[in-house]
Amino acid sequence: MANVIIVGAGPAGATLALLLARCGIAVTLIEAARDFQRQFRSEGLMPSGLDALHQMGLDSLLETIPHRPLSAWEFWLNDRRLFRADEPLGCDRPCTLVSQPPLLAALVQMAQAQPGFDWLAGTAVKDLLWHHDRAVGVQLADGHTIEADLVIGADGRASLTRQRANLPLETQPKSIDVLWFKLPAPAGYEADNRFCTVVKGGRVFSLFHGAEAGQLHLAWAISPEEPTQRDDWAETFAALVPPGLVDHIRAVGDAITPPQRLSVVVGRCPRWHCPGLLLLGDAAHPMSPVRAQGINLALRDVVVAANHLVPVLKIPGEAAVDPTAIDSALGRIQAEREPEIVEAQQLQAHEASRGELLRRFGPVRQGLSTLSPGVGPLVKQVWVNQQRPLRQGITAVRLEV
Ligand SMILES: Cc1cc2nc3c(=O)[nH]c(=O)nc-3n(C[C@H](O)[C@H](O)[C@H](O)COP(=O)(O)OP(=O)(O)OC[C@H]3O[C@@H](n4cnc5c(N)ncnc54)[C@H](O)[C@@H]3O)c2cc1C
Repeated sequence: MANVIIVGAGPAGATLALLLARCGIAVTLIEAARDFQRQFRSEGLMPSGLDALHQMGLDSLLETIPHRPLSAWEFWLNDRRLFRADEPLGCDRPCTLVSQPPLLAALVQMAQAQPGFDWLAGTAVKDLLWHHDRAVGVQLADGHTIEADLVIGADGRASLTRQRANLPLETQPKSIDVLWFKLPAPAGYEADNRFCTVVKGGRVFSLFHGAEAGQLHLAWAISPEEPTQRDDWAETFAALVPPGLVDHIRAVGDAITPPQRLSVVVGRCPRWHCPGLLLLGDAAHPMSPVRAQGINLALRDVVVAANHLVPVLKIPGEAAVDPTAIDSALGRIQAEREPEIVEAQQLQAHEASRGELLRRFGPVRQGLSTLSPGVGPLVKQVWVNQQRPLRQGITAVRLEV
């Protein structure tokens, strides 16, 4: 039987481990963290990502995880709403916030029910093992080694497997970091969870109710050079949020969490694979947070990877594993996924540049804000039409195994 090592139990690694294990393939899933709580884990799932989970047969699992649909997208310029676009924007599912730690834990638990699945948590991979220029396994931080017919690097944007395999990452110039805050949510957001993007006073930030009950998230964009200041954040936010939120921000000021600084890396590997090793998700193509793409694209990578890998890894009886067949499947996976990744990153950059234009040029912002009752509906129509590929995906992705 073929055996696979997957490095990293984020959305890409955990779902691929489950799909392969369900098909009877021996899988060792290795995760550096002891549990899923310790790091920031994003929550936004677009209809395309929800569809990938649906194809994996995980709808009922999702129902058991804290989740919350978005009701609308709102854009505020200075103190005026430019427009509001109600979910699901012509799709069959609304964009939904899903709490990632319980989702990942549940995926691993499901995989553990499969024979041939091995789960190593709290153990970082430190190096790759090689034989005649082919990756044949990993070395763990505790010195143990594990061999495999295929190593999958699903270890995120700082991927160690990518570095050890010498697969270069071409990054876009770094334009933002994000300061992430959580604060008690105002009552109205439970019933009407709009994702508000605010551009005012030289700042761009977003506000929305997260998946967990009672928590408002505030994502504050800063330039990578800007230090994390010890601001009076409540007063800073109160001066900028939409008018209906000012009193609430002042009232809950003491409960605003200290900011968590998240570095944003965007890029792509020209080559996602080498003999015996494949990169997936952020390891191959780290995504910007704009319009919540990264988890969704990682899940869609997994669907395509499973389609190509199961036929070459699921070998009958005593038949030998064919490394050439595995390696040629790796090239087909990149070829099928790359066009969507390239276009999604271009669309994200386009969205970000429009926000940046409004942030930097006060007169443009002021003009649009003043004219919002007249031009808002038109701007909304253009925006909604442009969202389709970022919500529904760009290429057809169908699970066939
Ligand atoms: C501020 C911000 C907000 C975002 N918001 C969204 C959003 O709302 N929606 C969305 O779709 N995307 C969002 N993204 C992008 C999204 O978080 C990523 O694209 C997505 O998590 C990629 O999934 P992944 O499984 O490839 O990698 P990751 O989620 O990064 O998982 C990698 C896993 O590998 C483990 N690991 C790393 N190194 C090792 C090692 N050496 N050994 C063992 N394990 C290792 C890590 O602990 C981690 O669990 C956001 C990104 C940022 C920066």
